[in-house]
Amino acid sequence: TGVQPDAAKIALRMNPISHKILVLSGKGGVGKSTVATQLSLALSRRGKKVGILDVDICGPSVPQIMGVPRGEIINSNWGWLPVKHPVHPVSVMSVGFMNSTDRAVIWRGPKKTNLIRQFLSETFWSKLDYLLFDTPPGTSDEHISVVSALKNSNPDGALIVTTGNGLSLTTVGKEITFCRKIGIPILGIIENMSSLVCPCCDEQSELYPSDACASFAEKFGVPFLGKIPLDQRVTVAMDTGQCPHCAHPDSPTVAAVEHILDRI
Ligand code: ADP
Repeated sequence: TGVQPDAAKIALRMNPISHKILVLSGKGGVGKSTVATQLSLALSRRGKKVGILDVDICGPSVPQIMGVPRGEIINSNWGWLPVKHPVHPVSVMSVGFMNSTDRAVIWRGPKKTNLIRQFLSETFWSKLDYLLFDTPPGTSDEHISVVSALKNSNPDGALIVTTGNGLSLTTVGKEITFCRKIGIPILGIIENMSSLVCPCCDEQSELYPSDACASFAEKFGVPFLGKIPLDQRVTVAMDTGQCPHCAHPDSPTVAAVEHILDRI
């Protein structure tokens, strides 16, 4: 196929952005959006200029997690202006801002690709240190569209979020194969929900075999970036659009995300 007509426009939008990172998972419900949004908040608390783009067309969850469920995209002279996080200077863009939340979206491939390319060519991010892409689970049209649109913009690579159970890990193998086929570097694997933080005493109970994920990463020759425990206080914070780093700075989940950020 030839060069897409909007390719130059996308490159122009992406060039002022230093780091572009995709967040992937083989399965839904493993905490991909949670990890992507927590990373964006943690980065902005470190003084970085951050954007997060939610390309999960059928199930966008970033608006709710980021506390802007009814955010509206403003069309300005410079392009589409992202919605601002209520507390931190994080720019949020989501396909969810285009649809009403209670209507199911059933879209086929080319329409999805066009919408994603439009987000990339129209959004005025301005200069960012980091742009994180929250994607749907698995490997589908959305991933191919993002990766091909970023082809000339030097994306850093992909973070793969999983839990330590066997089923979830099997799908991670597919994610790794996908990234290698499509030529996107794998920055590493993150194990989410590795243990449960006791609400009474903060003691942690392991949920899955403790080294399953790390040895899986080693077998596939990709970095293992660390484990994030499940903390009920964080679940509540994320569901109600609060920043868990501000609301629960002493949570082991928050500490784990900070530790992973040091390693990326
Ligand atoms: P995915 O994007 O993989 O479908 P989500 O990020 O939506 O998954 O997470 C599913 C649910 O689990 C959400 O309610 C979220 O708040 C919760 N959750 C995920 N990871 C954690 C964690 N480490 N601690 C507490 N709750 C979590």
